[in-house]
Amino acid sequence: MKITLALCWIISTLLSACASPTPLSTPTSTPTSPPTFTPASTTIPIQATLVLTNATLIDGTGADPIPDAVVVIADERIIAVGPRAQVEIPAGVQVIDLEGAFVLPGFINAHVHNAYDAGRLEAWAQAGVTTVRDEGIIFSSAQLADLIALRDQWAALPEYARLVSTGYMLTVPGGYGQLAVTSAEDARNQVNMELDAGVDLIKLAIETGYAGTINLPNFTREELAAIIAAAHARGRLVTAHVTQAQYLQQVVTAGVDDAAHIPADYITGGLIREMVEQDIYLVPTLTVLEAYGGLSGATYNLGRMAEAGVSIALGNDYTFIPQNNFDHFDLGMPMHEITRMSEAGMTPMQIIVAATRNAAHVCGLEQELGTLEAGKLADMLILSADPLQDLAALTQVQMVIHSGVIIRPGTPDSLRGFELNSL
Ligand SMILES: [Zn+2]
Repeated sequence: MKITLALCWIISTLLSACASPTPLSTPTSTPTSPPTFTPASTTIPIQATLVLTNATLIDGTGADPIPDAVVVIADERIIAVGPRAQVEIPAGVQVIDLEGAFVLPGFINAHVHNAYDAGRLEAWAQAGVTTVRDEGIIFSSAQLADLIALRDQWAALPEYARLVSTGYMLTVPGGYGQLAVTSAEDARNQVNMELDAGVDLIKLAIETGYAGTINLPNFTREELAAIIAAAHARGRLVTAHVTQAQYLQQVVTAGVDDAAHIPADYITGGLIREMVEQDIYLVPTLTVLEAYGGLSGATYNLGRMAEAGVSIALGNDYTFIPQNNFDHFDLGMPMHEITRMSEAGMTPMQIIVAATRNAAHVCGLEQELGTLEAGKLADMLILSADPLQDLAALTQVQMVIHSGVIIRPGTPDSLRGFELNSL
């Protein structure tokens, strides 16, 4: 009975959300000034080899923390990591004593928008979010090729978060998204066009009846299959915007790689099991569900899915305007989202894995990022307090290393006083 009442409440709040003035995301029609390129700010280049000692290692795999750990970095990569007793420190290299700090992989926000912007990329990186996945170009009149060119320029500059691009959201004519396909053949062509332009993975959207939308058209089964097959044929992932259980079922059956939101209505145990068995990830974005009145159902679903073993990745659906006048789409460390994940029952370790290894997976970068292991890129978030004891420690940043470069130094005097909310 409790569940029935809760769902009725959710349905009524969703219906009331239909009248909300601000859509979940809006087709690109609002011209804004194109992203600007600003010169790199000062960073501290490291010697060829850098060693971090006297740290507690939380490596992103979910394994128990390792006290008194050592990390050896050469150029942009980790070459050794583990307990002090097991890692040989090369002679004549720069050694930084972290004095008991906590070393984690650089965090990854796997659902943001408006990331083609140097200031925002710098704000994320300064907070220790060293990678973001832009889940669809909105509010931009810039050409895809120009945005991808900016991504590539910024990729060489470690003071900016690494930008993973999905290009435009694929949809059908009149549907929710930016790039419409008109047939299965057209779907294949559009996927190939986006991949040829240099996007990292493909995003599609199935939406109607939520956040101001009503009676929007949907893909045919053939179009959906064609999008996924065309992306997978080129070794690229497919992420899907869905906010309702019936559409989550549709994309899970079709074989997408992750769901870009969590539905707020009831998800069957069978569908949850299917996601576990097929290793389909979930990026909950509780922040946006809360903004549109679906937090209760979304929280209930996330608790069940985490408990059942669905792989969860961190993402808060950041945009530069508060959606539905909800002012909690954090730039920098997405603490509002993290707090809501915790309230859904996820442990601090589960949330850290969601923000590191699992988020790297949905970016298609699991081989390079997300865990602190020999051979991976040296992206690190170094905290002065233990996030396993209190997730608020995620904002007590002592140092940030991105691609082997210290972009946020360890001493308060040398911090540049970057204001996260100054944009
Ligand atoms: Zn989004």
